[in-house]
Amino acid sequence: MSIARPFRGGDATDLFDRVEAKMAPLRPRCIYPDCDKDSLGAPTGICMGHAMAVWKVMEDCWDDMIASRQNPDSPRQQVIRQRHEAKQRVDSVYIVKLGDRVKIGFTTNMHQRMRDVPHEEILAVVPGTMQDEARCHAAFAHLRVAGEWFRAEPELLQFAREVDTRGKLDGA
Ligand SMILES: [Zn+2]
Repeated sequence: MSIARPFRGGDATDLFDRVEAKMAPLRPRCIYPDCDKDSLGAPTGICMGHAMAVWKVMEDCWDDMIASRQNPDSPRQQVIRQRHEAKQRVDSVYIVKLGDRVKIGFTTNMHQRMRDVPHEEILAVVPGTMQDEARCHAAFAHLRVAGEWFRAEPELLQFAREVDTRGKLDGA
């Protein structure tokens, strides 16, 4: 009587890979768009990588909460404030309206910028570079009043609406 060999046609690693190849499609995927990692399962539905990202955010929130109870001028509190401000920095192209004028601008800090730029309405804010801003300025050069301000003609307002709707400057 012979004892069956535990694995045929390969070593343990091969077997693991073969089982894994069969099992992988059966596992639930992370629910994040374009993420094909395994989900950790209920109750999160997300993968380990995304869970760690969530953890990092929660940790920051917790740090902020603790620090806010402590001396606001402490070095620790200053670091947290700087981190908070850094998070608000996103390269953006914005379109705002003031009366019959529209301004197309670029900023790395929309919150700060909107405190400085006179406006009645924010028509659109989307990710964008200074080059994107320059392209917009060129496209509407015929409506330019001065600097970054343009006449609020229907075509420009329409453009702003479209940019706002698709959440980016260019069409897909
Ligand atoms: Zn994921």
